[in-house]
Amino acid sequence: MEIKKVVVIGSGTMGSGIAAHLCNANIPVTLLDLKTEISEQARDKIHKSRPPLLLDKSKINNIKVGNILDNFDEVKEADWVVEAVVERIDIKHDIYKKIFKERKKGAIVSSNTSSIPIKVLSEHLSEEEKKDFCITHFFNPVRYMGLLEIVKNENNDLDKINSLKNFCETELGKGAIICNDTPGFLGNRIGVFAMQVAMTEAFKMKLSIEEADAIFGRPMGIPKTGVFGLYDLIGIDLMADVLKSFIKELSENDPFQIVAKEIPLVKTLIETGYTGRKGKGGFYRVNKTGEVKVMEAINLETEEYSASKKINIKSDKVDLKKLILREDKYGEYAWSVISKIIKYASSLVPSITKDFNDIDEAMRLGFNWTKGPFEMLEEIGVDTFFDKIDDFKGNAFLENLFQSRNQDFYGSRQKYTDIETFGKAKKKALSVDGNSSAQIYRFNDYNIVEFTTKANALDYDSMDALKKATDKPLIIINESMQFSAGVNLSYTMDFANKNDFKSIEKFIRYFQETCKPVSYTHLTLPTIYSV
Ligand code: NAD
Repeated sequence: MEIKKVVVIGSGTMGSGIAAHLCNANIPVTLLDLKTEISEQARDKIHKSRPPLLLDKSKINNIKVGNILDNFDEVKEADWVVEAVVERIDIKHDIYKKIFKERKKGAIVSSNTSSIPIKVLSEHLSEEEKKDFCITHFFNPVRYMGLLEIVKNENNDLDKINSLKNFCETELGKGAIICNDTPGFLGNRIGVFAMQVAMTEAFKMKLSIEEADAIFGRPMGIPKTGVFGLYDLIGIDLMADVLKSFIKELSENDPFQIVAKEIPLVKTLIETGYTGRKGKGGFYRVNKTGEVKVMEAINLETEEYSASKKINIKSDKVDLKKLILREDKYGEYAWSVISKIIKYASSLVPSITKDFNDIDEAMRLGFNWTKGPFEMLEEIGVDTFFDKIDDFKGNAFLENLFQSRNQDFYGSRQKYTDIETFGKAKKKALSVDGNSSAQIYRFNDYNIVEFTTKANALDYDSMDALKKATDKPLIIINESMQFSAGVNLSYTMDFANKNDFKSIEKFIRYFQETCKPVSYTHLTLPTIYSV
């Protein structure tokens, strides 16, 4: 099945993000909403978005806009119709009725719902219609978040679902993971649970929000917004709605229920308009006195704000084993949070997915963690984990692992996809050279260069590796969030601080000499993806 034209219905945050990303892949899209003005405004927003949703502003010409009354005929031409309207089942059911009446025979119809089960979404569809209906759950912002969760129903035409998955992986660059029809699918089920554990444990252990964020952040391979910072970013009120939906959908004895209970401080913050960055502030706020802006943090006990303190836990590197073995409150907090996440995630295999490593991929691609719960377990070490963990009765995954004590339980990554990913190629490739800034691999008859510095910033060594690798056709690739942040400015600043401008000139010359031939080289190479 070929996807040559897409209609996206609902031009809010997600609909416009999906439309913009399809444009990036040069797929013509029609964006429909209740009124044409709404989709027009959405198109303007896409055009001006920062960070940009478009790879290049001219791609905006791939988007046509319209409304669902006058322009619904557009659906007749589409190979894929994506529904991204508000999270209301009555509205979604009405839209499906219209879509299935008009769609081209065999066209795929999918919903971007984040919480409604597919069995509920598809309850009024015929068996024939169900064949072509699924959930495609993109994450926000669509261009930048790698995860796409696909949820099938029992009637799906599997060839079609697989070709949609392949399209989303190869054309849209997503990591498309097939999930079971369970609340929150993979990413949100584990990600939101993890946030709640990190928050409730901080209250329990009387950590300040800055301390909790300093641990549940870079030291654990999690983005530095931490938990309270992330709450502010997402919106404290939105998180409360998400939790209500989990409480409703999950069974009474699901451990999620314990960590999802309403916290009095959170209720007060929402009621007083402290809904996060979009509101008056949240757990953090910027207090402006005259011309001076001060970042403040709330005290979880007194509920008062005071100037936010920088926490130095004296370990910036991700070393989970060292972190959980620390004999201080930070080590205790890290262990309590990590062990609960590992216990919960492992208790959900196979109910949410049969492949435990899919959960790790979902956390990496959907929440930007460098490691998922099972990779964390692997890093801590099976023996250390079982030496420290208390009760895990009834958790089949952990009981089996306890019996086998298999240190290499992990097996391979990226099982969810058949495409050739860098993660897979790297395992089969020969490491031929490298330095502190880059690694060179030989794979079949070409070289692969992977930058390895923080944010993949470039320095003399990165250029050295590139230069050395040009003896064969070359692929430059990595699996990080950023391909590269560009030149390492602090590296060049160091020279400037020493008044060593000659070295800066030398570096720039070397940079130009190395990059120029690379940018003028046009070779046909095998395709490897970085999802
Ligand atoms: P939104 O509120 O930003 O946009 C919804 C759009 O739907 C609005 O433009 C609205 O005018 C339009 N709409 C409402 N009724 C309509 C109708 N009958 N016909 C056509 N358009 C209609 O919502 P959103 O955040 O983009 O969410 C859309 C879907 O994506 C929801 O199902 C949500 O659960 C899901 N989702 C949201 C996020 C997120 O971070 N916002 C992430 C993943 C999934």
